[in-house]
Amino acid sequence: MEIITVNNVIKNYENNGLTVAAVRGVTMHIGQGEFSAIAGPSGSGKTTLLNLIGGLDRPSSGSITVDGMELSGMSPKELADLRLRKIGFVFQAYNLIPVLTARENVEYILLLQGVEREERERRSVAILTEVGLGSEIDRLPREMSGGQQQRVAVARAIVSEPSIVLADEPTANLDQKTGEALIDLMHRLNKEKKITFLFSTHDRMVMERAERLIRLTDGRIAQDRAEKPKGGKMKTKTSANAGFKPRAAKKR
Ligand code: ADP
Repeated sequence: MEIITVNNVIKNYENNGLTVAAVRGVTMHIGQGEFSAIAGPSGSGKTTLLNLIGGLDRPSSGSITVDGMELSGMSPKELADLRLRKIGFVFQAYNLIPVLTARENVEYILLLQGVEREERERRSVAILTEVGLGSEIDRLPREMSGGQQQRVAVARAIVSEPSIVLADEPTANLDQKTGEALIDLMHRLNKEKKITFLFSTHDRMVMERAERLIRLTDGRIAQDRAEKPKGGKMKTKTSANAGFKPRAAKKR
């Protein structure tokens, strides 16, 4: 089943009378349960694309469908609700609330969803334990390492049981070993909870661990390939593979 459809999306930013073409006609199809990465150099449009998919920004033209819902027809309130219930976000700079403990940061999402206090506590502690932070639940972000903070961010992203997690350069501020552990954690959650993961990266280690790599250059898809996990033969997807149409974005 297809969970994200990006159809001929263009995003231009207007800056002091200058137009910056950040995304220049991208079409892609992400299937449910994928563990995929968007890779590309700085400025290639990765963040813009993730923000458009997450409903944080709107395309200049083209359409995006997430879990069966076409974003362009949705009001800001409907988009906020979609983000709250269906999409988890992980950012490069963790973006935790500094005055809240790990547990409170995770619980906050459930509070917004109207979940009762006892259940909030139970689910927050369970999910923090699952990401290996069972003994850090009462720490403030500043009392934790970068890797621990990013684990809290992952816990916060998945506590609401979203269908999709969008992660923008999640390992950018982590050392190699911590970054690898974080990707392993996300991969395990992807398999166990069947959550679709789409992340942006320019980290080679992350690219190697992704099951599908979509390369962006200058706002366009330059390459899209799926790789069998465990070193299997690499394959370029064809239209026979569910949820993918190769290079349909050729139109200019
Ligand atoms: P990446 O995530 O791959 O580094 P971005 O999506 O952040 O790329 O940026 C793509 C292009 O769009 C860059 O040229 C960047 O300067 C430009 N850009 C991004 N956001 C804005 C904005 N809010 N206003 C103007 N230009 C922007």
